[in-house]
Amino acid sequence: MIQKMKGTVDILPQEIHRWQYVEDVARDLFDQYLYREIRTPIFEAYDLFSRSVGNSSDIVSKEMYDFFDKGERHISLRPEGTAGVVRAYIENKLFGPEHAQPFKVYYMGPYFRYERPQAGRQRQFNQLGVEVFGSENPATDVEVISLAWQLFQELGLKEISLQINSLGKPADRQVYRQALIAYLEPHFNELSEDSQKRLHDNPLRVLDSKDPKDKRFVKEAPSILDYLSDESKEHFDQVQLMLKRLNIPFEVNDKVVRGLDYYQDTIFEFVVDDNQIGAQSTVCGGGRYDGLVQQIGGPEKPGFGFGLGIERLLLLMDQQAVSIPDYEPVDLYILCRDASVNQLAMELVQNARQAGLIAERDYLFRSIKSQFKTAGKLKAKLTIMLGDQEVNSEQVIIKNQETGIETEISKEDLYDDFYGVYRRLTTDTSVIDKYFRGE
Ligand code: ATP
Ligand code: MG
Repeated sequence: MIQKMKGTVDILPQEIHRWQYVEDVARDLFDQYLYREIRTPIFEAYDLFSRSVGNSSDIVSKEMYDFFDKGERHISLRPEGTAGVVRAYIENKLFGPEHAQPFKVYYMGPYFRYERPQAGRQRQFNQLGVEVFGSENPATDVEVISLAWQLFQELGLKEISLQINSLGKPADRQVYRQALIAYLEPHFNELSEDSQKRLHDNPLRVLDSKDPKDKRFVKEAPSILDYLSDESKEHFDQVQLMLKRLNIPFEVNDKVVRGLDYYQDTIFEFVVDDNQIGAQSTVCGGGRYDGLVQQIGGPEKPGFGFGLGIERLLLLMDQQAVSIPDYEPVDLYILCRDASVNQLAMELVQNARQAGLIAERDYLFRSIKSQFKTAGKLKAKLTIMLGDQEVNSEQVIIKNQETGIETEISKEDLYDDFYGVYRRLTTDTSVIDKYFRGE
């Protein structure tokens, strides 16, 4: 038996409605904010990610699925959403005047990282996210953060906290980097192995180390917020003022750094308390990436976006016992006594479906008792039972499962206006009586 690859999952029909519910709520929200969907390829040139996400990031240095195709092209399965969207933005000149500006898009789909699988961490996982191009306005930062916030609210999630930070401009960060290295260096031997490796090529990552060895030193480390230029300070102040004005609770946390190299100025994460989504705590993260478009060969256009892990979101919804609407109940279920009614059943069910009903029939001719069980499971509002009599007569009997009332209807009336009959038999009982009395 060939089994699924490590770190992948089958999302089965019995759980798919939870996914579709989240996707539907998100899509409605994206529409409301005028973000349009973009679908970029699952695989891209390896260089796209090494140049955008950055060689010193965990994603590129350890987690990428990359390979050479039969044409010797170096290819990667996309590990995150922003790089591909930025490439598409440049390649399709989406910054042009014929497109609404700022240019706003959203995406949903699978991403791939070679990681150690555990709760909330897979090798193929799903993200939804948004990107905005062409606006330096701090209001854009706030719009994107608010969108994520509203999504959590509408899904009914509680106790998710928003943490924000500013990484300043690259020049600010350069100075800060030196200060941080200078502060950590004397403690080099006491740092975790990972942090020792990171100290010189990506020292900011030491700040979000989960290792207790590092945490002692991180507490007292210099703060990026003391290194911001006036311009970055003003930008970050504006973001905070607007969030306050919108009553979105947040916390400034100068230890939030994000794992990707391309961020600057505002960055943010939505985090939850320990053990709700395994060892993980971040559900959604994002920020500003003003230099990225240029860095991969496009014009000088600022960007802002976030990525949200759908598996972690669903785990959290489970954990918080958020209720998810079930499938619509079935309007009509047709029971079949035996194979002699096969053709009539098919004709009826298709007529009902074409009239817009959610309809199902029996195909297996098991006992009527078990067929009623199926109808009950599907929460069928109406049932029709077919036997010899119904094959030979012009009439069928339709039963309202809720009231128990049975109504005789001619097949002709059904085929004429199946939906009308359905309405009469399910919603308005006075009409049912009238119909019954033939008035
Ligand atoms: P972590 O620190 O947990 O590895 P990250 O910083 O690598 O997260 P991002 O690159 O910011 O994650 O991705 C955005 C979101 O995508 C994460 O907050 C998380 O919800 C989700 N995510 C990232 N990697 C995985 C994964 N391997 N499996 C499931 N979800 C993931
Ligand atoms: Mg990661």
